[in-house]
Amino acid sequence: MYSSVGAFGISLIAILHILLIIDLSLACLPYIPREAWDAKPPKSVEKFAGRIPYVIIHHSYQPAACLTGPECCEAMLSMQKFHQQDRGWNDIGYSFAIGGDGRVYEGRGFNVVGAHAPRYNDKSVGICMIGDWTVDMPPENMISAAQSLIEYGVRRSIIASNYTLIGHRQVRPTECPGEKLFKEIQNWPHYSPMLDVVDPNGIRT
Ligand SMILES: [Zn+2]
Repeated sequence: MYSSVGAFGISLIAILHILLIIDLSLACLPYIPREAWDAKPPKSVEKFAGRIPYVIIHHSYQPAACLTGPECCEAMLSMQKFHQQDRGWNDIGYSFAIGGDGRVYEGRGFNVVGAHAPRYNDKSVGICMIGDWTVDMPPENMISAAQSLIEYGVRRSIIASNYTLIGHRQVRPTECPGEKLFKEIQNWPHYSPMLDVVDPNGIRT
């Protein structure tokens, strides 16, 4: 339960959320909060504390790349529906997603346990580059939006300054984040070639 403020019943959490959005706007981050893409509420929210040591890059594979705001909102909704209904998860699995419109879409957000990389969900930011980046490269606006989000997190001491950046395939047997994007992120700051792959049965490969 959160305390309400005045007759409007604005919860403290809502005020904090608005302040975060203002803060992100001032940081010149093109940011789309959950409300703006019409997210369903999470079934449950589990938080973790401390500066976040890992940034994990994904691609959605499907849905395909979105180019406009409405297309990207649709992609967010379809991912959330798939994760909540078909997978039975609490919410969209990722912390954030990046649209082909060059904007950052809020998923679970920072310091919320995700569902994108088992064993790392409570110590990472999971960023999904919407689209299939096996053969094609994400456009420059998507890359700069992802990097701006990471820089914002570090600047605000949400992400550890010595964070480690990896692709999903480095901790799970998967093609994600796609061959082309995987090659690209190897040039990003803080990329580590670490390998800690465990299959779905918990067997290290
Ligand atoms: Zn992935």
